Amino acid sequence: MGDDKLHFVLLPFMAQGHAIPMIDIAKLLASRSGTTVTLLLTPLNHIQVKPILSRSSQLGAHIHVEELHFPAEEAGLPAGCENVDALPSPSLISKFCFAANMLQSQVETLLKKMMFPKQSCCLVADMSFIFAAEVSQKLGIPRIFFNGMNCFASLCIHHILTCSNILDTVSDEFEYFDVPGMPHKISFTKSQVKGMATPGNKERREAMEKLMRNESTAYGVIFNTFEDLEHVYIRHYENVRHRKIWSIGPLSMFDKELAHNNAIIRGQTSSVDVTQCLKWLDSWELGTVIYACLGSFCNLTAAQMLELGLGLEASGRPFIWVVGLRNIEWKKSLQQLMVRNGYEERVSSARRGLLIWGWAPQVQILSHQAVGGFLTHCGWNSSLEGVSAGIPMVTWPLFADQFYNEKFLVDILKIGVRVGVKRVMEFGKEEEIGVQVHGDEVRKAVEELMDGGGEEGEARRRRVRELAEKAKKAVGEGGSSQINVENFIKDARKFTAKKTYA
Ligand code: UDP
Repeated sequence: MGDDKLHFVLLPFMAQGHAIPMIDIAKLLASRSGTTVTLLLTPLNHIQVKPILSRSSQLGAHIHVEELHFPAEEAGLPAGCENVDALPSPSLISKFCFAANMLQSQVETLLKKMMFPKQSCCLVADMSFIFAAEVSQKLGIPRIFFNGMNCFASLCIHHILTCSNILDTVSDEFEYFDVPGMPHKISFTKSQVKGMATPGNKERREAMEKLMRNESTAYGVIFNTFEDLEHVYIRHYENVRHRKIWSIGPLSMFDKELAHNNAIIRGQTSSVDVTQCLKWLDSWELGTVIYACLGSFCNLTAAQMLELGLGLEASGRPFIWVVGLRNIEWKKSLQQLMVRNGYEERVSSARRGLLIWGWAPQVQILSHQAVGGFLTHCGWNSSLEGVSAGIPMVTWPLFADQFYNEKFLVDILKIGVRVGVKRVMEFGKEEEIGVQVHGDEVRKAVEELMDGGGEEGEARRRRVRELAEKAKKAVGEGGSSQINVENFIKDARKFTAKKTYA
């Protein structure tokens, strides 16, 4: 590797919603001249992304990989558990984050090796790596913070966290309070913001504070968003956090082939034959199918899942339902519930529902013209993929930033209909929380979304289509996200040329 090349070293967190956009960023940076890109991956995550990396190489954007040993067993996790989606139980997430943060010395050693004898390196680390700031400071490598959320959610979390007594002003879990400091009135209930903005114990609070500090000591922050979608919040975020922001999304739209090439599956391998799945969609009329998927890490109980399925069925609409990836026991109990109910038999004999037990080719499905609605858990990547496809959404948030994203989709962009979830699905409390949404509520939300809901429904569709156009422009030639990618590379070159590091 020549000295004049700018070397980006990317450290993605081992969860699909974090790694997928980071791999997209790696592809983007590697496609530009004068750059070299290395991804730091664990062996099993490396295997998963090999097809994407080889295609990228064939297109002239080669990405190097350095492997990290993931200390699963050392952290008390089952051997081979190298990704959040492989966790046998959602309650193990803290252990997983702990294991990921045990990678510090391995990352340090690799970076030292890469910097030798005189290489300009720039570290792009996922927000979840608490140790990244220390490593970059120690080695004198400029560091960029990858924030996997959007600016709106990040701002809400920032303001709630820094206004320490705001939550003391409300006694009831379901009473609304206004988020202080926002550019306009935004309200949530305590039960919706439980988690990131209200870390339950001292340890979590400290981790959250470190995360915020890491963001404010980084050279800048990359967001998977775009100017026309949330420029108000992007500017506000820059002012409040005094950080340089590069909004370079929607990342899923940079690869023009992604939406229509059956061979490109991000994340896991598809659990269905992609061609068959798209053929099934071909048999339905324009905009009639609802696609339901609650992300890569859904912790609803089997009983709640059945209610979701019953609601889809009762809506009378054709649907694709991604049942998900969870462990064998969970799948078994859901299957038993379905058998007792006669669900799968009814749905498949009516040929109206396609169930995917595992990983779905989401971007391809959303891009099919038969899909007219997306029931989503409001993970930021999925939300943005829905926007990019110009599809209105039924919102079913689970945890993390998802309730903020629901607010953004429904109340600010006005392109979504709430299914009616009231509280965060806290890890380890799933059975206690049980069924929050009944089949009939699912049916109503789907009907409202798909049947147009009168003028408002039409306006919703028009708005999301307009946003999809704007998204396309943002990643097109001369578009804001294209320009921001160029600016990011230019800025990174400046940071690495300076020999004084934060
Ligand atoms: N995804 C997919 N197939 C699936 C489930 C998820 O391709 O069956 C992709 C989806 O397109 C998105 C990512 O996984 O890019 C999920 O990220 P998101 O932020 O939406 O949610 P998370 O999984 O982190 O909760």
